[in-house]
Amino acid sequence: MLEDKNLDLTPISAYGEFGLIKHLTENFSFKNTSTEISIGDDAAVINPENQKVVLTTDILAEGVHFNLGYVPLKHLGYKAVVVNLSDIAAMNAKPTQILVAIAASNRFPVEALEEIYAGISLACKHYNVDLVGGDTTSSTSGLIINITAVGLEVSEKIVTRSGAKVNDLLVVTGDLGGAYMGLQILEREHSVFLANPNMQPEMEGYDYILERQLKPEARTDIKKNLEELDIKPTSMIDISDGLSSETLHLSDQSKVGFRIYEEKVPMDSLTISTAEELNLNPIMCALSGGEDYELLFTISPNDFEKIKNHPDFTVIGHAVDLDQGNFLVARGSNELIALNAQGWDAFLNRGK
Ligand code: ADP
Ligand code: MG
Repeated sequence: MLEDKNLDLTPISAYGEFGLIKHLTENFSFKNTSTEISIGDDAAVINPENQKVVLTTDILAEGVHFNLGYVPLKHLGYKAVVVNLSDIAAMNAKPTQILVAIAASNRFPVEALEEIYAGISLACKHYNVDLVGGDTTSSTSGLIINITAVGLEVSEKIVTRSGAKVNDLLVVTGDLGGAYMGLQILEREHSVFLANPNMQPEMEGYDYILERQLKPEARTDIKKNLEELDIKPTSMIDISDGLSSETLHLSDQSKVGFRIYEEKVPMDSLTISTAEELNLNPIMCALSGGEDYELLFTISPNDFEKIKNHPDFTVIGHAVDLDQGNFLVARGSNELIALNAQGWDAFLNRGK
């Protein structure tokens, strides 16, 4: 944290509310023609240009969603944007604008907010979205960041959670479980540090999973890939809470069940080896870990040939009748393990 570095820190009160907003936002520029009026007026004006407007918002609260003991503020700002853009990507829309509301206690100097805004700015540049407004206030305890994202897309291209049909294929992007394993390493090293502040954290060799946790990316690139393959998913969701929970959402809203094949679930070798090191079942990390921000979607079986050799996509299962339920088909044994809380108990007891 900044306080530890004995820097000359500036209290927020030195700027005043308006001065602070100006200071934090003056280096942001605009890239989208749909942005008509931005920061500085009473509200922003967006021209949807005959498209549908897709909206989402997400709160990150200190102590609930993040721990500043090991999350750098710049990463926090970046991730706060990414989690929202991931929801826009999950609707197959293009993210175009964000609004940022921040409440910070007086424990946070201006320099801390600058770090958060550096992360927000990096995300805006990387994803071509415009920061068009927000709100800034004080808080009596800790830091809260609320970001709202706007996305645009023509109505025929928008994909919801509710269109999966029996026999559709279940597809996931990237690999799963890494963000959760990164969190386990950060928490392990943080508790070692709290017990003995002279201990150096042992983070070497864990780069990929630490990055998955601290600097996740939203899969806004997938929309273009799918268009190039001439595929429109029949349903889609982003993986914020784990594969199991998101599959159950698709099931619930599409009125189908799913079979997921354990051996097909894509996992990085570092995720697997770290899970084993920590005595966790690797597939558990993919199913209930969360925060991977990959996309999970269904496609018509007719589209299989188009997707089967694509490096971004893995077919992990298929849709069945709703009354057949949602199950993981275990590697080797073909045992069916229910994708619900009870299923987890069965899984945990099965051992590694
Ligand atoms: P009001 O009191 O009318 O809500 P504010 O002083 O809160 O006005 O906001 C002034 C302008 O600055 C608005 O355009 C608002 O969207 C923008 N703004 C306020 N806080 C932030 C922030 N943290 N990040 C980006 N823009 C902000
Ligand atoms: Mg305001």
